[in-house]
Amino acid sequence: MKAIVFERHGPPDVLKYIEVPQPAIKPNEVLVRVKACALNHLDIWVRLGLPGVPIPLPHIPGSDVAGEIAQVGSEVTSVRVGQKVVLAPGVTCGKCSACVSGLDNRCRHFTNLGYMIDGGCAEFVRVPEVNCLPYPENLSFEEAAAVPLVFQTAWHMLVGRAQLQPGEDVLVLGASSGVGSAAIQIAKFFGARVIATAGSDEKLTKAKDLGADHLVNHKTQKIREEVRRITNKRGVDVVFEHVGTATWDESIASLAPCGRLVTCGATTGFDARIDLRFLFSRQLSLLGSYMGTKSELHTVLKLAAAGRLKPVVDRVFPLAQAAAAHAYLESSSQFGKVVLRV
Ligand SMILES: [Zn+2]
Repeated sequence: MKAIVFERHGPPDVLKYIEVPQPAIKPNEVLVRVKACALNHLDIWVRLGLPGVPIPLPHIPGSDVAGEIAQVGSEVTSVRVGQKVVLAPGVTCGKCSACVSGLDNRCRHFTNLGYMIDGGCAEFVRVPEVNCLPYPENLSFEEAAAVPLVFQTAWHMLVGRAQLQPGEDVLVLGASSGVGSAAIQIAKFFGARVIATAGSDEKLTKAKDLGADHLVNHKTQKIREEVRRITNKRGVDVVFEHVGTATWDESIASLAPCGRLVTCGATTGFDARIDLRFLFSRQLSLLGSYMGTKSELHTVLKLAAAGRLKPVVDRVFPLAQAAAAHAYLESSSQFGKVVLRV
């Protein structure tokens, strides 16, 4: 089969479009003919290499897959050959206490397709049967592939971790990113008021189209000042963080008393500081969030199938041009998802 493979970490041009053997499946696995694979910032981290994370090389990246079942293992009963599927990116042991509690994103063996195992930037990918989710028929393969990781992550952050309540104020950092565009929609779905930030007025217009109530251009405006103005000096109940070092101080300063900051990433750097007096006297909560559960993904896909949540696809590249797609994603000029068509 054709696949995107890298043999060493580095810039986008380490991604090669080459012929590799088709994966062999186990009895509880399926082989999926990939139709579309969406990119995430995770793909950039994996390509560059992360300290202490021994990504097996050579490696096929890609976490977000939509496609059709090509082959089923001998123990598979719930899907058949030819069926359209969206894949849950998280692969776990399925047996531990966390997994059987439905909290599979806490499994010690948790990994994503394309992270510690081969992913979907290929003509075929193998996954456990349990990772096959019902296909939202109203969506194209490119749109369907744009749903799982970002919507599951944003849902887990806002609903699972921050326990967002109707009428609360939410600050969504980086509205143009995949998780940002998902978070705006989920927060609005829960009846929150959304303040969204982005680095250009063009991106802010798109954030408004997704439902953002207030817009902050972080290149020309100071986030904490705009939040204070919009909330009549109170601050927001929830800050949706994934940017990291570049926005951390603004995010903390934007919290209302008893506010919750929830974060799933640090695209601009891992270092942050906090004044502990501010943390305790204002009774703030800092919440980490990692991926999401398969159950949350089932909910998200149901809402996507009903048109209540809409994947935002910025641009589609052919699989062979994965390197160009990575470079485009790294340039941060997109609004929403960059997707590879296979
Ligand atoms: Zn487990």
